[in-house]
Amino acid sequence: CGIIGYIGDRKACDVIVKGLKRLEYRGYDSVGIVTADGDKIEIRKGAGRIDELTEKLNFQEMRGNRGIGHTRWATHGVPNDTNAHPHTDCTGRIAVVHNGIIENFAELREELLRKGHTLRSDTDTEVIAHLIEEELKNAKNFEEAVRKALLRLKGSFALGIVYADEPDKIYVVRNESPLVLGIGKGETFAASDVPAFLEYTNKVVFLDDREYAVLTKDSWIVKNLDTGEVVEKQVQEIEWT
Ligand code: GLU
Repeated sequence: CGIIGYIGDRKACDVIVKGLKRLEYRGYDSVGIVTADGDKIEIRKGAGRIDELTEKLNFQEMRGNRGIGHTRWATHGVPNDTNAHPHTDCTGRIAVVHNGIIENFAELREELLRKGHTLRSDTDTEVIAHLIEEELKNAKNFEEAVRKALLRLKGSFALGIVYADEPDKIYVVRNESPLVLGIGKGETFAASDVPAFLEYTNKVVFLDDREYAVLTKDSWIVKNLDTGEVVEKQVQEIEWT
């Protein structure tokens, strides 16, 4: 399973498909991509191999300079097109990909159903998008809604989040599942493992558990999930071989 996120000036889908191929060694049963062009968000996903899905779904047609790709290794819900990530909230404007397991998803799901949310998949992941939607009703901004929603999760997660209404940002989070940032010139990457973006940059920042990052094309900031405070991180250079 794996995650690759991109924000910059390139066609996001190109970077993402290549990145997913580089993460294939990690194993997967399904593939999905979200890209966004301004405030227009698009999702294509399905069960199967990257090459066959690229042919069937034409990932290369997806528009926009920001996006996130995901390979799934199913833990909750069979591998099929509906359960493939990304998953969205009711409005379809918040897209989430996830590697890991949300241990308390059943009770969160019950709560969301009671509040009137419609959940479409059998995954533990989908509750995250709806929790953010719920928190957004009272939060002062999207970042605060994300943080409050994530504080409710028990379990392991590497997450990528795209919000249609924030055209210049993507979010990633790490807790007990690997995630590393790639810092380019005028472009920023995030992935489960360095090879996913190493052809573009060798400057990396490893996230630690319970840290999240807000990425723009020319900036990145890492914060502690529990306190919301900025964490000073070291940029490391990986040897190109
Ligand atoms: N638990 C999630 C699911 O089954 C994510 C699995 C993964 O790590 O890819 O959809």
